[in-house]
Amino acid sequence: MTVYLVGAGPGDPGLLTVRAAELIARADVILHDRLIPAEALAGARADAEVVYVGKQGGGPQMPQEEIHRLLVEHARAGRDVVRLKGGDPFVFGRGGEEALVCLEAGIPFEVVPGITAGVAAPAYAGIPVTHRELASGVAFITGHEDPAKPETALDWPALAAFPGTLVFYMGVRALPRIAERLVAGGRPASEPVAVVERGTLPGQRTLLATLADVAERAAEAGIGAPAITLVGPVAALGEQLGWLERRPLHDVSIAVTRARPQASALAARLRELGATVVEAPAIRIAPLAPALPDLAAFDLLCVTSPNGAHALFERLGAAGLDARALAGATVAAIGPGTARALREHGIRADLVPGRAVAEGLVEALGDVAVRRALIVRAREGRDVLPGALRERGAEVEVLALYETVAEPLDAATAEAAAAADYVTFTSASTVRFFLEAAGALDGPRIASIGPATSAALREAGLEPDLEADPHTPDGLVAALVAAARA
Ligand code: SAH
Repeated sequence: MTVYLVGAGPGDPGLLTVRAAELIARADVILHDRLIPAEALAGARADAEVVYVGKQGGGPQMPQEEIHRLLVEHARAGRDVVRLKGGDPFVFGRGGEEALVCLEAGIPFEVVPGITAGVAAPAYAGIPVTHRELASGVAFITGHEDPAKPETALDWPALAAFPGTLVFYMGVRALPRIAERLVAGGRPASEPVAVVERGTLPGQRTLLATLADVAERAAEAGIGAPAITLVGPVAALGEQLGWLERRPLHDVSIAVTRARPQASALAARLRELGATVVEAPAIRIAPLAPALPDLAAFDLLCVTSPNGAHALFERLGAAGLDARALAGATVAAIGPGTARALREHGIRADLVPGRAVAEGLVEALGDVAVRRALIVRAREGRDVLPGALRERGAEVEVLALYETVAEPLDAATAEAAAAADYVTFTSASTVRFFLEAAGALDGPRIASIGPATSAALREAGLEPDLEADPHTPDGLVAALVAAARA
């Protein structure tokens, strides 16, 4: 029974501390605010009680006394409670009050600092809050002060005279007043100001201005909460050092429809380039368990997808075999991803075609003599490869080790995908099952991984706006970047 006052960082899930993740994974109860990363709760126990104690849909905040009551009640019931707050719990987070409540109630507590928005949002906008030549101090200030309450009123002349950077939290609406009072107190009207909206999140926006024009320009740009306002010469460095908003896919939303295990690698790559990713898996890989043929009888083994490679080794394992069972055959992988998957199982493919399609594989075989070929693939596949091998006089056996089935799409995900800038398709089955689940698609641009997928799209009445070349996930990412640049 301990209360943990935990900071969840400013929004980017990567800025959650290791300690915070550890405690979230262990907690019996999590009481959380609104401004925490959506992904922060993913690691919670399935049976943890997760209670939202923030503002109720733009309405009033749950009263602080009620939060205190919940903290004490749960801890007294013997539970470990994580009180999860945006940023740092002790920076405008009321963590101090909650610690005092625990102390009074005799409840043990710990504090886990978080990365505060006042440092993180500027950092993601390329602004160091201190700088050897420009600012030797930094002040964190609430912009939310209530002018009606004299006891909370800020000492504006003192703030104006502060020799360093001023960082205002909760100050978007008060921008005109902040700028005006600082100038009245003696800060030059030309002093640089940065307003960072949704700092560290995919939609981050930075406005660089001066005290003279910041209020007007923020209103023009429609800057809203949450935002950090930073005043001082360091703000001008954002012009040169801003990096996040310059990433090639910043502000581009992209839906990924492939099966979840493969989707995450593609999604991670897109996110690193700045994209907002909607994971909308339309398919799932369901393993099949046919009996294995006598592998020694084949002189060519073709593997046509990473899933096929993994499924093959699962079947081998189930039969008490390992990579040695493939020792006699020439091994062909359809593309670099499949070759990589084979390598994970100790097999170096002899052949990897330059073009990652069935036709490319046939071409790459050149004049390799083939007597008996085994093709490992999905149940539903094109006949190009078996047909071409038979034409070369080979005896061909197809071993279907998995099938692609529909993954149900919930309405919210389908809607988010339909609102994205791009929807990516990485196989004919993603096209078919996504359209079955989501209905027609008009609005987003269509990105296809290659000709077979494009053909499926056209058959469904959709013209791809871009087609990857090479026909690989990396090729698809490169095509999206090129489209965003253009
Ligand atoms: N404890 C939090 C601050 C809570 S006060 C922390 O340490 O960061 C809430 C204010 O924090 C917001 O009004 C806004 O000014 C700032 N804020 C929180 N998240 C932000 C974000 N992602 N980008 C910009 N400002 C943010």
